[in-house]
Formats: sequence, C-alpha cells, structure tokens
Amino acid sequence: MRDLAAVRETIESGWLTMGPKVAELEARFADAVGAAHAVAVNSCTAALHLSLEGLGIGPGDEVIVPSMTFTATAAVVAHVGATPVIVDVDPDTMNISVDAVRAALGPRTRALIPVHYAGQPVDMDELQTLAEPSGLAIVEDSAHCFPASFGGQLIGSIGDATCFSFYANKTITTGEGGMITTDDERLADRAATMRLHGMSKDSWRRFAGGPAMYDVGALGFKYNLTDPAAALGLGQLKRASFLRDRREMHALRYLELLGSLEGIDPLDVLPNRQHAWHLLVVRVTEGFPLTRDELDAGLRGMGIGTSIHYKPLHRHSFYRDTFKLAESDFPVASLAGDQILSLPLYPDMPEDTPDRVVRAIRYLAKG
Ligand SMILES: *Cc1c(COP(=O)(O)O)cnc(C)c1O
Repeated sequence: MRDLAAVRETIESGWLTMGPKVAELEARFADAVGAAHAVAVNSCTAALHLSLEGLGIGPGDEVIVPSMTFTATAAVVAHVGATPVIVDVDPDTMNISVDAVRAALGPRTRALIPVHYAGQPVDMDELQTLAEPSGLAIVEDSAHCFPASFGGQLIGSIGDATCFSFYANKTITTGEGGMITTDDERLADRAATMRLHGMSKDSWRRFAGGPAMYDVGALGFKYNLTDPAAALGLGQLKRASFLRDRREMHALRYLELLGSLEGIDPLDVLPNRQHAWHLLVVRVTEGFPLTRDELDAGLRGMGIGTSIHYKPLHRHSFYRDTFKLAESDFPVASLAGDQILSLPLYPDMPEDTPDRVVRAIRYLAKG
C-alpha cells in the first residue's frame, strides 16, 4: 500500500515530529483549496480553537454555532472564554439556519461557526451578507467538507478561517489531524506559533539549521501535526477527488433507491455547490412503520453499521445546564435528533451496499 510506504519512508528519515512533510502537506493543501495559507494541527478541534484565539475572541464575546453538530464546534468557544450561542438548523439540510443566526445577533456577537453538515456547504453568500455589515468573523467548521465548493469557490477559500478534520472517519485522514486555511497572514502566523507552545520558530526550522534559541512570546498549546501523519495525508490528498467521486456514486445510488421508500426522507441536495458526501443522512418520519431507534436497532441486528450525527448540543447535559437551553428553542434540531440516521457511506464499500441496505430497510418495514 502506497500510504504505508510513505509513512515508512518518513519514519526512516528520522522526522518523527513536525518537519518537512508537514510543510509539504500545508503547501499542497493550501493549493488544493485555493487559500493563501494552511496551518497543520493535530485535530479540527485544535484548528477551531486556534482560529478563535487568533481572531482575538475571548471573554465577553459571543459566537453563534448550530445545535446539530459535534461538541467540538461549541466547546472551543467556551475554551477561549467566550459564550457559544447555540441556534437551530435548517430542516432540509441540517445546516445552520440563517434566520436563527439573524435572530441571535447581538452587540457581543463576534463570530459565526457554520458547519457544512454531512459535507454539503452552507449558503456562504447568505452568511457573508449577514456577517459583513457587523464585521463578524466567519470560521467554517469544515470537518465534513473536503473537497467541496460553494458558488464555484472552493471551501477553504471563503471564510476568515476554515477548519478541516483528518480524523479516521473523515473524507481524508491522517488518523488524527486537522488544518486551518486562511488568506489572513497574521492569523496564519499566530496559529503556527500557538500550535507549538507559542515558540517563536517551528522546531523543524530550528532543527533544520536555524538558530537554536527561541522565545516563548505567548501562552501557546501543543497542537502540532507529525511528519508520519503528514506523509499519510499527502497520499490521501492526492486521492481526495477520486475518493469523493466514489462517495458521491454511492450516495446517488442511495437517493435513487430511497426515492420510492415511504417515510425515509434523505436531506435535500442543493444546487450551486459541490457536496463532499461525508455522510448519507436520512430522516425516519411518521410515514415509516418503525421509529428511528427501532430501525437503527434492526439494521445493526442485520450487521449494517449505522450512526447518528448528532444528538443535538442542546440535549447534552453540559450545554443544556450551563447555557440554560430548552428543547422548545430548537424545534428543528429536536425533531431531527429523534429522526436522523446515517447510513453506511465510505469510498471503498462494495458497489451494491446501497441496494443491500435499502433492501434491509424494506424488509424491516414489513415487520
Ligand atoms: C469530527 C468533527 C470535529 C472534530 O474533529 P477532530 O479532528 O476530531 O478534532 C469538529 N466538528 C465536526 C462537525 C466534526 O464532525
């Protein structure tokens, strides 16, 4: 396997931590998304944290995030001392509701973190129209969304910062890993410094013949990516569009088969954007004879690996209790929390998997 050979070569080179492969991955990734800068880190969570830190967001500030997401999207806001303002989502896409964002804007709002849910880009035109007059920053949580585009612009080149995940199940992976892309040189420099203890120079530049002395100029973090991980990422990046096309092929087959299935309702696929197809999400509605949980259990019993993305943030005890959130403030995310189910979708699954899964759903529906 080519990925394995690249990792072996990197380990044999002696670069076990951050070195030339990380720099190469950054350069290639920036190119791939049309951004001026890319800063590699060890997770998307770190990427989001460093983006907010670099934008100077902190105590007293509010950052708007959707309820239908992974905890990291909101947790990083609290980690910089700001308040996550959690809002409802759009019923057709599970992307952040633009109306809900508008209603949540206030004098303390500093930034928005839209999530390109399932890999389908948020309407960035609408969000930018909202954000620009008030000077709000847009930090995209693009953990699901690479490679993709909105209105002909690559995701990674639109917001003030875009954060990608290379976690094991994401569209490309380094095991654990992430990336910030931005056109803002100051933000990129700050993130590059803060990912490694706030030290003035990257260790690899130091070890590669730069000055041995460094200064800790800020209270930084330990968020750097490693060269063996970056070597894995370089191989994945080369295959990214092939992998996306495989995901899309499987997804379109699902949509075709599900079109005639009463009560199983896939999310809408909107025009004017390229979908990364990280997830294939359906809603199990009243028109289906089983509840979502019954169908989920049935499919698992038949050896079909399903998942739920996500239990909405407002239902997690930490967010609910800390920010006093009520079910009734999130009618769409609450209903979706009971109805959504992610069906198996990965590039190298057998071509007949969608047929097999939909046959299983029909079988379970008959009781
Ligand atoms: C996976 C994920 C993250 C976190 O990514 P890590 O690389 O695991 O830190 C953040 N947001 C969303 C929406 C995700 O799916």
